[in-house]
Amino acid sequence: MNTENDARICEQNSRQTSKQTNEQADKQVNRQGNAGMNMAVNSKREHLKNKKLFLFDIDGTIALSEDVIEGTFELLSYIREIGGRAIYITNNSSKSTADYVKKFRRMGIEAFPEDFVTAGSYTLSYLTGKHQEDLIFVMATASYLAELRKMGLQVTERFSEDVDVVLTAFDTELTYEKIEEACRLLMDDTKERIWLATNADLRCPVDFGMIPDCGSICNMISAATDRKPVYLGKPSPGLVEYSMKVTGFTKEETLVVGDRIYTDIACGENAGVETCLVFTGEAKAEDVPGASNRIDFYFDSVKELYEEIVS
Ligand SMILES: [Mg+2]
Repeated sequence: MNTENDARICEQNSRQTSKQTNEQADKQVNRQGNAGMNMAVNSKREHLKNKKLFLFDIDGTIALSEDVIEGTFELLSYIREIGGRAIYITNNSSKSTADYVKKFRRMGIEAFPEDFVTAGSYTLSYLTGKHQEDLIFVMATASYLAELRKMGLQVTERFSEDVDVVLTAFDTELTYEKIEEACRLLMDDTKERIWLATNADLRCPVDFGMIPDCGSICNMISAATDRKPVYLGKPSPGLVEYSMKVTGFTKEETLVVGDRIYTDIACGENAGVETCLVFTGEAKAEDVPGASNRIDFYFDSVKELYEEIVS
């Protein structure tokens, strides 16, 4: 057990309060009973040792493009040994679940389709439940569009007066034509249309740096149309709640691990589960003190998280 990690576990909670709004402070006070900020470090450490369901963000948390971040294999082995479960919850909607299984196998991580809950797959189940009869205009990759069709949803990539829903995903095959069609639909006063988006992320980490993500695509359209989408992925709690529901693990047994405060950490907080921030992607250590979301644990990488758990 090292003192540096002790500091990491408790320090953030005490620093964070000064910048919080009253409402957030009230929320935090209310939670002190089960995972509170004054909890002794050892007791907090026990929380990590009791985790069974690990909900990992992918990009910037366990991988950068196809490079596996150190500590990932060790942590995944540990989870298997204790009879726990690793589920990858990602806002990246440019890849299908099948694409992810292939990517993980290339990276040397054994994974199955049920191990992935992506903003894309969650959106798919959301649309199947709520918009089965509606015509959906989709801005997405060809592989995601094929998944929507496979579920029997009515989709189009062209403007039509009959369109009921506009859906924006992380479209790495985006064209100006698609942007223009979306604007036409959202500015057409003859029909009220719902605008849904898979995820609010502004940028996606890749091996050379960052590229614009779904949130940036939406912002571009919002700037032109004065409309705002409803985001289904993180930070909405849907992905976390869905993962707990399908695996049967409780909130107390669940830990969300991610590299972004405003999506990963916020998503765990919104679902009422503990969160762990790592600094291998977007967030840096200096972002922690002023964070407006509750970060229960933070480490340089999943390697230090693993070492803390097995220490
Ligand atoms: Mg990430």
